[in-house]
Formats: sequence, structure tokens, C-alpha cells
Amino acid sequence: MPLRMGVRGKLFLVSVALVLAVVFLAGVYLEGQLVEWAQTRAEVELQGHARLVRVLLEHQQDGDDDLDALADRVAAPIDARVTIIGADGRVLGDSEFAGAGLRGLEPHGDRPEVISALRDGQGVARRTSASLTTEMLYVALPFKRPGEGLEGVVRVARPLREVDAAVRRLWLAFAVAGVFAIGGAVLLSALASHYLSRTLRGLVQDARRMVETGDKSKLLVGSQDEIGGLAGSLNRMADELEGAVATLSVERTRFEAVLESMDEGVLALNQHQQLTMINRAALGLLSLSTEHDGDTLAERIPIPTLHELVVHALAGQPERREFETLTTPPRQILASASPLRNLQGAVVVLHDVTEIRRLERIRRDFVANVSHELRTPVSIIRLNAETLLDGALERPEVARKFLEAQMRNADRLAALVSDLLEISRIEAGTYEIHCDFIRVAPIVERIVDSVQQIADEKHMTVRCEVPPDISAWADAEALEHVLLNLVDNAVKYTPPEGKIAVRVRAEGERVRIEVEDNGPGIEPRHRARIFERFYRVDKGRSREVGGTGLGLAIVKHLAEAMDGSVGVEPATPHGSIFWVLLGGAAEPE
Ligand code: ADP
Repeated sequence: MPLRMGVRGKLFLVSVALVLAVVFLAGVYLEGQLVEWAQTRAEVELQGHARLVRVLLEHQQDGDDDLDALADRVAAPIDARVTIIGADGRVLGDSEFAGAGLRGLEPHGDRPEVISALRDGQGVARRTSASLTTEMLYVALPFKRPGEGLEGVVRVARPLREVDAAVRRLWLAFAVAGVFAIGGAVLLSALASHYLSRTLRGLVQDARRMVETGDKSKLLVGSQDEIGGLAGSLNRMADELEGAVATLSVERTRFEAVLESMDEGVLALNQHQQLTMINRAALGLLSLSTEHDGDTLAERIPIPTLHELVVHALAGQPERREFETLTTPPRQILASASPLRNLQGAVVVLHDVTEIRRLERIRRDFVANVSHELRTPVSIIRLNAETLLDGALERPEVARKFLEAQMRNADRLAALVSDLLEISRIEAGTYEIHCDFIRVAPIVERIVDSVQQIADEKHMTVRCEVPPDISAWADAEALEHVLLNLVDNAVKYTPPEGKIAVRVRAEGERVRIEVEDNGPGIEPRHRARIFERFYRVDKGRSREVGGTGLGLAIVKHLAEAMDGSVGVEPATPHGSIFWVLLGGAAEPE
């Protein structure tokens, strides 16, 4: 793990590195300067000494032995080694050597300063002395003693120890200065970093608190410097962020409200087929209890058609398909899946088409039923006509039978057409219903009168229990139609000597009209369906009694058009009670 270094540590390191670099570079530079200056100075000084010694040498006419004494004599006051070398390189005198030592000295003609002096008139060299084994600076000048005809080189040398000592002193001074500078840097960087890190740490803490607690207070802009600027920038950024978050949240709320108020189910999926959004309608349609973001579609809704749709949409191909839900009862869903542009994923919109498909089926069945119902009497009429034409007409005893059958079927056809017209008028909304508070008793009496003859023929009793003043919120013609159908059915389907009762009573704010018979009754499995068009419990029996299979469908439509409802219940010990519930128990004052 990399070492995490705070501002303080970094500042300290940088300052120390800076101090060291400055001390080192300055030291190297000054050392160069010092050495050069010291050497030049020593050189100039030695040149002066050499010239002095040369003057002495050229004007003092002594023997060779005296040259050594001369060297010794002048060396002391000038604090330098003085060597007198003959033109042949032999050392004639040297302040450091005498007697045997001097004579034992090797010839100095090969020394670079000597060579240069003889050649150029002056020689300067810096090297380790072969005789004294110390680093020396040599200055050599040629001389001539015309009296003796002696020529040679006078050389003045001084050890460079002093220059080295000066350099060492310089470095020592620099080391001391460096230590002080580092100390100062440590102090300064500690102070600066303490200030910096305290302010920055405060800023970081405040910013973290703002993020964690959602605290909307501003960061304190304590100074005008960069840190103050940083705090200001953070505050502006926080403001902008807050604004952006607020806008986003408004947008999100609006988006969610739209999605949640939709009747269509909406599912959104990412490219891994994981559900990222599912609205309330979709949960309801698919009977899913709670949301589980992140589940894959296959895990949550194992419907192959839906899965294929999503796979195609994710591949960029929009598609629509219908499938059945796994709920009971199953629902018919039309799903449209399309790829999500810019985002990698797909969106599926679910429409519940159960009702539409049911109505389509009913309409299809209705058309098929109508054709079938119409075709039967028409073909009977045609068959009978053919039989009559084929000769039955000539035989009056059978001709009458065929003509009567034609008449019956023509009546049935007429009844069918009239019921169909009626039902289509009601459905198209052209059957005008004007509801009002109307008295029920006169209508019931009229209906009972109209069936009385047939009832008498079947030796049936029809009883009325209708309070004379009770009124219902209804359309007179429609209510008459409803009651006629119910009473007519009761007479038709109840065997001879049966009993029929029509009762009207107030039930809270509603009026309940019942038509009870003691006929065969209706099995529970048929009860809910007998109000459908062409639904008959016993087709043969219905035809026999001249039914069309549309009567109860018309009753239901009309009752609902008057804001009422209809139903059937079993009677005791047998038979049926058909009821109609209408509004308005009594005429308001
Ligand atoms: P239909 O013209 O065949 O009578 P409806 O719609 O009036 O047609 O009645 C539908 C079916 O309900 C009838 O075919 C019959 O089987 C049954 N039904 C109606 N009323 C009664 C009743 N009072 N008793 C027994 N069955 C009845």
C-alpha cells in the first residue's frame, strides 16, 4: 500500500530538498570561486616572490653553494619553498634541502613549470611535489647571472594546504548554515502546513458533513487566499449540485407520477435483462407483490413470450406480442417491447386486452349465433314451401300442417328480428330511455292482464303483490318490456297448473320487483349466463315455447340503462325468482 503523506509531510520534504539543493549548489559554486580566487591570489603572490628572488639572484654574485644559502635566506620571510635550478635541470639551491639532501635531489629539468619557464618566460603548475609529497603551487621564472654565465630557473612554491583548509572551512560554514536553514525550513513548513492542514481538514470535515447529513449550511470562507477561494468554489458547487438535485427530483417525481397513474404496465430492463423499473399497473397485471430491483425478468416473470420479446428488443428490434398471465383467471396481455435509445436496455409496455378480446369473442359468437338462429326458421319455411309445391298443396289435410309450420317459423323469425333490432338499438344508444318516478302498480297490472289468457289456458295462477303507491325511477316503456319478458318466461317455462307471483317492495332507497314461479328452476351453473345473448338452458324447450334466447339479455340491458340491476335466485321448494332492483322507493314530495 502506498504511504499516504499529508500536506505537512510533503511541505517538509519539499523545503528540506530545497534547502539541501541550495546549500549544495551554492557550496559547489562558491568552492570553485574560492579555489580559483585563492589560487590566483597565491599565484600572484608567488609570482611577486619569484620576481624578487630572481632580482636577488641576478644581482648577488656568489658561488653555487651560496645559491642554496640564498634560497634558504629568502624562503623564510616569504614563507615559501625556493628552489634554484640550473639550465641543465640540476638543483642548485633549495630552501627545504641542504648539503647531501640537496645533492641527492634528482634533476628538476623535467618539471612542467621549469619547462614552461625556460620556454615561455614563466611557468605555473599545481601538482604533488615529488620531493615533499604534498600538493604544491609552483611558479617558476628564468634567470641569468651574466657574471658567471649561469642560467637557470628560480622556482617559488607553497603548499596548497591553505586553499584546502579554506575550502574545508567554507564547507563547514555551509554545513552549519544548511543545518540552520533546514531547522528554519522545518519550522516554517511546520507552521505553514499546520495552518494549511488545519484549514483544509476543516474544509474536508465540513464538506463531508454536508454530504452525510444533507446539511445545507455553507462552508466558512475564512480567508481571501486560495483556500478561501476553494471554500467559495465548493459552496458554489454545492449550490449548483443542490439545484441540479432539486430539478432532478422534481423531474423524477413527475416521471413517477405519470408512470404510476398509467393504466398500462411499464417495465424497464437493463442489458442484462434485470428489471430496473416496474410500475404499479404492471405489478397488478402480472400479480407481482413487491418490487425487487435487480431481479432478472426470467426470475420474476417466467413467461417465454415476454422473454423472447425482451431479447429481440435488446437486440434493437421492437416487437408486439400477446401472452397470457400466470394468474387465475389468466389475463390476456398485449406487450410492446422497444429498445431504450441511448441507454442500453429495453422498455416493455403492457396493455390488458382481456376485456377487448372477450368482447371480440362475444361479437364473433353473436354473429355466428344470429346467422344460425335466422337460418333455421328460414330453411324450415323454405322446406315446407317446397313440399307444398311438390304436391302437398293438393292434399289439404297435410297442406294445413305445412302452412301452420311456416306460420310458426315466420312468427319466430319476426320475433327474432324484432329482438335483434331491439338489442342493437339499446347497444347503439338509439333506444331512448327517459327515466322518471313512475308508479309500478299499473304497469304490473297491464302485463299480468296480457299474459292472463295463456296462463288460464295452462291453468296457472298469477298473483300480484304490489303496493299501489310505490314508485320507481324508470322509463315506462322499458320497465313494461322488462316485466313482460320476465312474466312471459315464467309462464312459458312453468308447467301447467303452476303458480306465478309478481311482487314489488321498497328496499331502502331502492325498489325490488320479483317474478317468482314454481317451475323447474335454473341450475346454479347456468344462473350467471342466462343473461347472455342466445344462452339457453334447454335449446329444444326454448324453441318449442317460441323463445329467441335474447329476452333476458334485453332485460339486463334495459335494467342497466335505468341504473338498475337484475338477477336470479332459486325459489323454494323449486322454481326461480327473477328480480330487478331500481332506484327511488317513493315519489319525492
Ligand atoms: P328465451 O327466448 O329462450 O326464453 P331468454 O333470454 O328469455 O330466452 O331466457 C334464456 C333462458 O333462460 C331460457 O332459454 C331458459 O332456458 C331460461 N329461463 C328463463 N326464464 C326461466 C324461468 N322462469 N324458468 C326456467 N328457465 C328460465
